[in-house]
Amino acid sequence: MVGMVPLAQSASPSRILVVEDEPAINDVVSTALRYQGHVVTQTDSGLKGFDLATGTDFDLIVLDVMLPGLDGFEVCRRLRETGRFSPVLFLTARDEADDRIKGFVTGGDDYLTKPFSVDELVLRVAAILRRTGNEAPSDLLVVGELTLDPAGQEVRRAGVLVDLSPTEFRLLHYLMTNAGVVVSKAQILLNVWDYDYEGSENVVELYIGYLRRKIDHDRRPLIHTRRGAGYVLRDEL
Ligand code: CA
Repeated sequence: MVGMVPLAQSASPSRILVVEDEPAINDVVSTALRYQGHVVTQTDSGLKGFDLATGTDFDLIVLDVMLPGLDGFEVCRRLRETGRFSPVLFLTARDEADDRIKGFVTGGDDYLTKPFSVDELVLRVAAILRRTGNEAPSDLLVVGELTLDPAGQEVRRAGVLVDLSPTEFRLLHYLMTNAGVVVSKAQILLNVWDYDYEGSENVVELYIGYLRRKIDHDRRPLIHTRRGAGYVLRDEL
């Protein structure tokens, strides 16, 4: 464990399943991952691994390829068939064909060739968890120093909470999801107010004004007018 890379503190530990029939390797891998703060379940056969993985949504499965009974590929294939998409880190021996591995490694998956270092395994696991979003899932919208949290219905500029009415919030949400794109008043009406009759463009102008006072007041403007085209929200340095 010399030189073990410490993992940044994450809010919720990841659940990891280790399927490996060599007890020494299983223990070293599991101990290292527990040391990183993960919750680890260990098993020594493909069939038991498959059963465990269909009962629990693991954030990651460390899956040996050469296993008695069901091999690692077969476990993975069956899991995908039954709609289980936990990312897999395959452990393979040097003489197992690389192209077979590649057929199974998709999306968030990866593989390590034995013998591997524990540090390497820890880094790969952290990378897979980052890629597959199991570290901190967030749909936070960010433009410059402006953030909008759709789940928490919170808007902040430079960390300071901005109080918006529901309509202002919807308008800003629309502008932020289209950040960098010029949107017309007609598009805004349709998407924020849900109607599009002529002569209502002044409502858009009015609310853009409200938003500007709350978002851009005394700060570098993020909401920009494009004459004859509409508005664009962007951080222009
Ligand atoms: Ca094995």
